[in-house]
Amino acid sequence: MQIFTTVKEMRDWSAKVRSEGKTLGFVPTMGYLHEGHMSLVRKSLAECDITVASSYVNPTQFGPNEDLDTYPSSPEKDSALLVSAGVHALFRPKVEEIYPQGYASYVSVEGITEKLCGASRPNLFRGVTTIVLKLFNITAPHRAYFGEKDWQQLAVIETMVRDLNIDVEIRRLPLLREEDGLAMSSRNRYLDKEERSSALLLSRALKRAQEKTAKGERSASKIRDEIRQIIDASPQASIDYISLCDPKNFEEVTNINGKTLAALAVKIGSARLIDNCILESV
Ligand code: AMP
Repeated sequence: MQIFTTVKEMRDWSAKVRSEGKTLGFVPTMGYLHEGHMSLVRKSLAECDITVASSYVNPTQFGPNEDLDTYPSSPEKDSALLVSAGVHALFRPKVEEIYPQGYASYVSVEGITEKLCGASRPNLFRGVTTIVLKLFNITAPHRAYFGEKDWQQLAVIETMVRDLNIDVEIRRLPLLREEDGLAMSSRNRYLDKEERSSALLLSRALKRAQEKTAKGERSASKIRDEIRQIIDASPQASIDYISLCDPKNFEEVTNINGKTLAALAVKIGSARLIDNCILESV
C-alpha cells in the first residue's frame, strides 16, 4: 500500500489510475479504524478496481469545546488493517497541507444541516462538506463509501453532490454494531467500563422503539418518551436529542407512517455518542 501525505502525490497517483481506465473507490475516515470503517473498505474493494482510503481528523468540523485534541489515533494499526484488507493507497495529510495559511473557502449545505447534530454542533456540517469536497477533488474517485452510522452526514453529502454536480457516486452502507448492540465508533474509546454499559442503552432504546412500532404503536411522542425513559435510567447519560423524523429532510414527525428515522445523540462521560435506526410501519 502506498501512503501519500501531500496533495500533489495523491493527485498524480489518482490521475494515473484513472488514465489506465481503472475504477477508483474512496473511503474517507478520521482514522482509529474499526470494523465499521473496514466494511466500507471491503465494499469498495469488491466494487472498484482500486481503493484509496484517507485518514484525516478534520479540524474545521470540530467546535471550540469538542474533542479535536483528544480524538484517538492509531496510525500503525490502521495501516496494518488497510494493508491486510488489500487497500492500494492511503492519503494521510498534515493539517497544513489541507488548510495552508490564507485558507478561506468553505462549502455549506443549507436547511437540513440546521437540524439534529447541526443544531448542537453548528460548525460540523460546513466542516464536513468542505473536507469531503476537497478530498474528492484530491483523490478524484469514481465512487465514495459512507456509513449510515452518520445518517445525517450522508444526507448532507448526497445533497452537496447533487446540487454541485459532483461526478462521484455516493455509496451508503449499513451501520455496524458490536455483538452487544453498541454502534461501532472511534469515540467508544473514551468510555470506561461503567460508561460503556450505560452506552448500551442507546441501542436498547432504539430496539425497543422498533419493537413498539412493529406492534402497531404510531405515536412519535409515545415512542420518544419510551426512548427517553430508557436512557434516563443511567445517571451518566445526558441526552442531546431524540429525534423521530423524516429520514430525508429531518422534519420531526407526529405519527410513524412509512419509514421514520429514530436518531439519538447522548453524552456519556466525555463521549458524545450518536446512533440511529429506521422505524417502519407496515
Ligand atoms: P469516521 O472515521 O468516524 O469519520 O467515519 C468514517 C466513515 O465510516 C463514515 O462514513 C462513517 O459513517 C463510517 N462509519 C463509522 N462508524 C461506522 C459504523 N459503526 N458502521 C458503519 N459505518 C461506520
